[in-house]
Amino acid sequence: MQRTLKQPIRLAGTGLHSGRPVRLCVLPAAAGYGIRFRRADVTDRDNMIPALWNHVTDTRLCTSLGNSAGVEISTVEHLMAALAGCGIYNALVEVDGPELPIMDGSSGPFVAAILGAGVQVLDTPMRAIRLLGEVSVAHAGVSARLLPSDTVEIAFAIDFDEAAIGRQSKVLDMANGTFVRELSDCRTFCRRRDIERIQAAGRARGGDLGNAIVVDGPRVLNPGGFRRADECVRHKMLDAFGDLALAGAPLVARYEGTRAGHRITNLLLRALFARPSVHEMTDCGPAITGRLPGAHILPEDFVRL
Ligand SMILES: [Zn+2]
Repeated sequence: MQRTLKQPIRLAGTGLHSGRPVRLCVLPAAAGYGIRFRRADVTDRDNMIPALWNHVTDTRLCTSLGNSAGVEISTVEHLMAALAGCGIYNALVEVDGPELPIMDGSSGPFVAAILGAGVQVLDTPMRAIRLLGEVSVAHAGVSARLLPSDTVEIAFAIDFDEAAIGRQSKVLDMANGTFVRELSDCRTFCRRRDIERIQAAGRARGGDLGNAIVVDGPRVLNPGGFRRADECVRHKMLDAFGDLALAGAPLVARYEGTRAGHRITNLLLRALFARPSVHEMTDCGPAITGRLPGAHILPEDFVRL
């Protein structure tokens, strides 16, 4: 069955790119509403932005969405992953600025708030997207593809020169609270040598060791090091899962990403929806519903941060 929140959640934090304070309120919504963002600070034009793949306007460093009035919201992927990971595809997200708060750079604080508010099961069947064939995109050593599967699977491989990261790969079936337990606490990361260039371009001005892992060759500059030895590939899986939630419904498929980022995952969704013959919408019976992310989450799945 479809889900929403039992009650609103409110969070405050800092925008990664602006470095400015931003407040977030996620409100329950009816079945079929989807996820929509509302820019509460914009009052002179349409301020509603659907959380859908065809509203993606920018994929540099994070995923940004926009509407036809030119109103945008950035850094949506970690909240999208948290909502999808808790099985929520109906909610109104109000934000009083141009980007979501980065919190600690993971989805953990969002998941904690969602599970704290409680999940409301609605009286309408869940609909999911099933793959009937393969879809892939590749460019310059970066690739992503979707394959038919009976469950939601994410497979990812990364390969960095920095010895602190190196080669990492992982495969997870996202059923039974996997997102909450295995991925939600994994933070975004960057290389120290990239920070100056990124900040000179006016981005990540709010970035610090409290909201990102910074690596320099073999060293992790954050005092506590990694939360998990393979935290970097896990965060890439979190990002991919959040970007795939912009399909608007659970994508019951195997996603395989190799050095993929927000751009290639969005191109993959565009390739998928450009080919009606390779996917279908289906009402989920108990068998599929029981394997979707968000089903059977246990309180002990959440890693206390
Ligand atoms: Zn991320």
